[in-house]
Amino acid sequence: MTQRAKDKKKQRSQGYIAAARAQQFPPPSRREVAFAGRSNVGKSTLINALSKRRNLARTSKTPGKTRLVFFYETERSDLYFVDLPGYGYAKASRDELTSFSRVTDDYFKSGRPIDVVLLLIDIRRGFGDLDLQMLDYLCHYHIPWQVVLTKADKLSRQAIVKAEREAMATIEKYAGEYDQKAYMPISVAAGPSPRDAAVQLLERRICEIIDGAQ
Ligand code: GDP
Repeated sequence: MTQRAKDKKKQRSQGYIAAARAQQFPPPSRREVAFAGRSNVGKSTLINALSKRRNLARTSKTPGKTRLVFFYETERSDLYFVDLPGYGYAKASRDELTSFSRVTDDYFKSGRPIDVVLLLIDIRRGFGDLDLQMLDYLCHYHIPWQVVLTKADKLSRQAIVKAEREAMATIEKYAGEYDQKAYMPISVAAGPSPRDAAVQLLERRICEIIDGAQ
């Protein structure tokens, strides 16, 4: 067996597929919930919290992670969580700072059964230029999206409300421009001391969106 075949077998047994290019994506046989956001925004942490498997999603330290799309099996046999490469990584080349990686582009353009993209934004930073580019991109391709504000444990209740209000203004602007449904942002703390209620709320929202799309 070749090394590549061995790697693939190992990944399968651990419940995921890592793809560096479109040819390595699995067949589009399951529905997909994708996760997008800046590097370090808390994507892996949230995927682990939602899938209730502490180490399913790799940590950001894994070499090459920023160039791969991960398809994670979930509790639902008809659903993948898809972890897209984090963007805005400080060490990326100048080109990559202004656009998304090739494999991200391939993912969105390949007509896959994407039910929703969770766009993760660090609640303390709000939307940056690349996040707004991602919103434009998703709207342009008519892909439904839900904003998730991460690391809410870093702010007071009052500051969370303010951040949510500001995020909603951006969400309404983009959704309005492209005639899409504007979902309220959901603030989560999935990190060291998870606030489960918010993660559960997000879980319910994902189910609503998925079932509504059926
Ligand atoms: P990724 O690069 O987007 O996959 O980000 P990670 O999930 O690897 O998280 C990046 C860093 O942020 C790690 O040190 C996490 O422990 C931390 N982190 C992630 N989510 C939270 C959160 O909700 N609260 C706090 N305080 N830290 C978090």
